[in-house]
Amino acid sequence: MSLVILMHLPLIERYQSVKARMQQACLQANRPMDSVSLLAVSKTKPVEDIIQLSEQGQHCFGENYLQESLLKIQQCPELEWHFIGPIQSNKTKAIAENFQWVHSVDRLKISQRLSQQRPTDQPPLNILLEVNISEEASKAGFTPEELLKIAPEIAALPNIKLRGLMAIPQKSDGLEAQRKPLAKMRQLLEQLNTSNPEWQLDTLSMGMSADLEAAIMEGATMVRIGTDIFGARDNLKK
Ligand SMILES: *Cc1c(COP(=O)(O)O)cnc(C)c1O
Repeated sequence: MSLVILMHLPLIERYQSVKARMQQACLQANRPMDSVSLLAVSKTKPVEDIIQLSEQGQHCFGENYLQESLLKIQQCPELEWHFIGPIQSNKTKAIAENFQWVHSVDRLKISQRLSQQRPTDQPPLNILLEVNISEEASKAGFTPEELLKIAPEIAALPNIKLRGLMAIPQKSDGLEAQRKPLAKMRQLLEQLNTSNPEWQLDTLSMGMSADLEAAIMEGATMVRIGTDIFGARDNLKK
């Protein structure tokens, strides 16, 4: 029932309702409201939607497809842009030049290219390492073992700043099942910070429309919400 109603709510109301869910989850998790930020995932959605949300104070937007995102960035250069999609080597230059954050770094080579290609007159590019936390054969990301081995090499690269970890866990129903892989992410971040206190990793990017609450309970600092803000995506454009 609630889903049907949500689909018909205008953008601003859906946005406010996601913000309210985040606040409720923070209360429940006993976390300060400002400890979790919202990344609005605007892939496949028109720039008009982005402008409407920016008028509500939304500053950070996540995009998956390079060509589409570059047009939006040109029109809204004052916003903060996060690349969250799969990265091919031939796309790293444009990503390094146009985004402030990259969540989906899943190979050493990609991080090296981003580092080399980040213009030195810009602040360091913020990087998250994607973890294949449910260890699914079909998914991108480092396994936890690979992550622990490779992270020091990436953290040492110039022009990028390693900020933390990102995951897209296997879909599961129910809060308890959802929390398990997210709890592993929290532990991995803690482990990296304990072995490398000088890194001061401060970002756990996890939680999408379906598992926002579970993610906040497990320490997410950035949730990436698309569908519940913008409505269902046009799957043809996937
Ligand atoms: C599309 C996407 C999201 C948003 O997912 P919703 O379920 O629509 O909220 C979040 N993260 C990544 C990496 C995505 O590709």
